[in-house]
Amino acid sequence: MKKSVLFPGSFDPFTLGHANLVARALALFDEVVIAVGINEQKAGWIPVETRLIQIRAIYKDDARVRVESYSGLTTDFAHSIGTKAILRGVRTVKDFEYEMQMADVNRQLTGIDTVVLFADPRYASLSSSLVRELAHFGKDITAFLPEGFLLKNVD
Ligand code: ADP
Repeated sequence: MKKSVLFPGSFDPFTLGHANLVARALALFDEVVIAVGINEQKAGWIPVETRLIQIRAIYKDDARVRVESYSGLTTDFAHSIGTKAILRGVRTVKDFEYEMQMADVNRQLTGIDTVVLFADPRYASLSSSLVRELAHFGKDITAFLPEGFLLKNVD
């Protein structure tokens, strides 16, 4: 049976840090499902539909990567696509504490386990919010984004 892992997040935007996690997860799983969470309360910087287009373009030649959006609980979405594992990344102690709590609750409630990969040191200081802030001040953000990123969709 194909082993899939669900990689949920905001991906606003999808950065080299996210891409590094996907590449490493592909060494452990047969398939990675990148899932852009829809936050009803927060529109975000890039519209979700555009994020999907951008991430799909990055992985257009890799059949082992699927890109979806979802709303509601991550574990419900994981169940709906038949995935038993969630992938998350940890850069800092702050990330660690948050991810540990989420992973614990998710496993207790649903049995779905979380696989945590520690950030590659090259990307440990990289976050979507940092990229958004640099873009806001008119800086070139291409160095933080995967090759083939459709930047024309970003203001
Ligand atoms: P969320 O809003 O769910 O935290 P993000 O898109 O910010 O969504 O992040 C998705 C996942 O990727 C999180 O587990 C986050 O810790 C991880 N992540 C984000 N940036 C990096 C990075 N540079 N290196 C490793 N993991 C990262």
